Amino acid sequence: MGHSKKNAAKHPGWKKPPLEALRAPAGLDLATFDRASTPGWKHGKQAGEDMVTRHAAELSELQERLFAEGRSGGSRSVLLVLQGMDTAGKGGIVRHVVGLVDPQGVAHRSFGVPTPEEARHHYLWRIRRSLPRPGYIGVFDRSHYEDVLVARVDGLVPPEVWEKRYDEINRFEERVVEAGTRIVKVALLLSPEEQRARLLERLDRPDKYWKYNPGDVDSRLKWPAYQEAYQAVLDRTNTEVAPWYAVPADRKWFARLAVSELLLDALRGFDLGWPPADFDVDAERRRLLAT
Ligand code: AMP
Ligand code: MG
Repeated sequence: MGHSKKNAAKHPGWKKPPLEALRAPAGLDLATFDRASTPGWKHGKQAGEDMVTRHAAELSELQERLFAEGRSGGSRSVLLVLQGMDTAGKGGIVRHVVGLVDPQGVAHRSFGVPTPEEARHHYLWRIRRSLPRPGYIGVFDRSHYEDVLVARVDGLVPPEVWEKRYDEINRFEERVVEAGTRIVKVALLLSPEEQRARLLERLDRPDKYWKYNPGDVDSRLKWPAYQEAYQAVLDRTNTEVAPWYAVPADRKWFARLAVSELLLDALRGFDLGWPPADFDVDAERRRLLAT
């Protein structure tokens, strides 16, 4: 059996392994990236949603194995980094994909404007202390990348400061990976038209007002500058140890499917067993039966 056929069998519904289809290639040009596309996926929405549902059992079991390993002295963990413009669907991914596993094994953290305490520290300070402990699936809703995105676009620090951060982030992530964390970086790439529609929906529906933030229109006005900043992130931090996945986000179902595959792949890659007993099973059984 040929290599690609074997891979296709492992990834039903995909023309090629989703990792290959989603991995941001060197030289990816955001200006021409189709944000409504469904790269690598053979089918449509219904099949995509069904596939996410089908992944639930395996995701859940692998997460439990990872957690068990963490409890037994292991050092491994997963860190899912979600970056995207407002309304790109970060929250929906947390709910619909990460929500498929036991919440006790998930360490979720969202990063907003730094608090006064955070602002007194180096920008990686709040990131370091939010890294997943062994056995956990960490999820970053926004991340240290804000410090080369909003910080760059809004000029929160001078260019010579943010300019140095790309290499610093690469070195930081390399150390995190060496310590046992598999980092999955997802750029949720939304079109400006779709963002407009999603923001409008927030204004049309009283149950969505709470999600609306007038500041979102201000960042929207800086769309080209943000695209430039995202392009720099992809150009300069797409490393072998912590690669970027470019996920078209105009179709929510596809973004969720894509992230479910990426998470599954990260967990499968650990080849997780169950920790052996650190006690004498037979002796314990005898002791228990004697009670
Ligand atoms: P939301 O994700 O909708 O809750 O918005 C969080 C806001 O915090 C966004 O506008 C981000 O740009 C902003 N934010 C996140 N990290 C930083 C940072 N390091 N510096 C400045 N603003 C940030
Ligand atoms: Mg927001």
